[in-house]
Amino acid sequence: MKVLSVASEVYPLIKTGGLADVAGALPAALAAHGVDMRVLLPGYKQVKAKLRKPNRAMEFDDLLGVSAVILACKIDGVDYLVLDAPALFDRDGGPYTDGAGADHPDNWRRFAALCRAAAMIAEEGLDDGWTPEIVHAHDWQAGLTPVYMQHGRAAATPTVITVHNLAFQGQFGPDIFPELGLPQTDFTVDGIEYYGDVSFLKGGLQMASAITTVSPTYAQEIRTPAFGMGLDGLINARAGALHGIVNGIDTQVWNPATDTLIAANYTFSKLKKRQANRKALAERFGFADTDGPVFTVVSRLTWQKGIDVLAEIAADLVAMGGKLAVLGAGDQALEGALLAAAARHRGHVGLVIGYDEPLSHLMQAGGDAILVPSRFEPCGLTQLYGLRYGNVPVVARTGGLADTVIDANEAASAARVATGFQFAPVTPDSLREALRRAIRAFADPQIWARLQNQGMRADVSWDRSALRYAALYAELVAPKSENP
Ligand code: ADP
Repeated sequence: MKVLSVASEVYPLIKTGGLADVAGALPAALAAHGVDMRVLLPGYKQVKAKLRKPNRAMEFDDLLGVSAVILACKIDGVDYLVLDAPALFDRDGGPYTDGAGADHPDNWRRFAALCRAAAMIAEEGLDDGWTPEIVHAHDWQAGLTPVYMQHGRAAATPTVITVHNLAFQGQFGPDIFPELGLPQTDFTVDGIEYYGDVSFLKGGLQMASAITTVSPTYAQEIRTPAFGMGLDGLINARAGALHGIVNGIDTQVWNPATDTLIAANYTFSKLKKRQANRKALAERFGFADTDGPVFTVVSRLTWQKGIDVLAEIAADLVAMGGKLAVLGAGDQALEGALLAAAARHRGHVGLVIGYDEPLSHLMQAGGDAILVPSRFEPCGLTQLYGLRYGNVPVVARTGGLADTVIDANEAASAARVATGFQFAPVTPDSLREALRRAIRAFADPQIWARLQNQGMRADVSWDRSALRYAALYAELVAPKSENP
């Protein structure tokens, strides 16, 4: 089955968060189930620099006012389609922001162009004849794809939209609507109009044949006002089309037995070798000694991720005998709070501000516990990497965190299935209590090794979830008459 995947970031070409990991892992995971997936993404500078001898696969004289080309390029077995539109993407900064961290003012045009290009591929097929049977859009940046598709020759082609984070909706003023090239009838409450504005994500949720999000618990949560970010009404109306499919991880990239980015390789039967990573991490974060559990955080530093609560309990964590190593970047106030904690607890709290993929691997290999105190978390990946690396997750009981970590309560511990610690709500008291439980467990090497072992044996691969996506695709392309 031929599937076009549309995403604004795809690992390893460009990454700012979990979306890139997922969009990057799906083609290989789905190939095993007979899915021929090609991935469309914008031709940012960073992406174009990685292309070797690309082919021109489609040309546009006027794609929302700019000229553009689709470049096709196979890298490490993955078929990429890169939207080369220099007027939109050839600039400094990240995928969404300029060098100073401000959103590009024309983000609506940049990502509408991506969606329009995806729809054109579905309508006309690429120059080599490849035409998708399904188009799978990710997040708001690809949200208008099903909207454009319903007006052209690909109106009958099924579409899927995956919500990786409902907090990001791509909302813009009504003045951009005439520039999108959509009929005025789309600017209604049943279309892409959202409280007088244009919402890319809403359009996708409204028009896609199926909606998926990245864990079963988050799929339920977003139907409530507390997590629905204003879209719970629409999501409830489309509940019949909603599926929660938990993310897997790329077990080749994230494998402690072969990872070249860590100090020493290990497996669950050779956990002693892990110590070299622990030592390397302690050196990197300037820890005074290697006593007590090292809690690690690899995260955007934002309110969503509960980093304010983390900063609040840093002193208690140290008083209880733990250490804290944080890798992340984000809100300046939160960076400041963590910097202050690191200064106050030198040798016990360490902070690296920035984005550092290699260090994120060492954090998982050398930490004792990965801390994820998110207020909401669609799936979360760092706890999955933690499981795979014997870095025991301590997580908020929400979204995908609730679905992927088994709390070490009495029953789960007795049954030897526990893999970490959960807490709720996300408050300093509740987080403190979870840390206390983790630190008590760490003090007994046998109990801790068992937790690590059970986590490392958990299936965090794409196997089961890829099967679910493949089944969903099959259901969508099945002739309607076969669907009772
Ligand atoms: P989100 O997508 O909401 O940011 P996820 O847990 O789903 O959160 O995915 C985050 C991804 O980004 C993980 O692969 C994580 O390792 C990575 N990551 C986050 N912050 C950093 C950082 N500062 N340096 C390196 N990798 C990071």
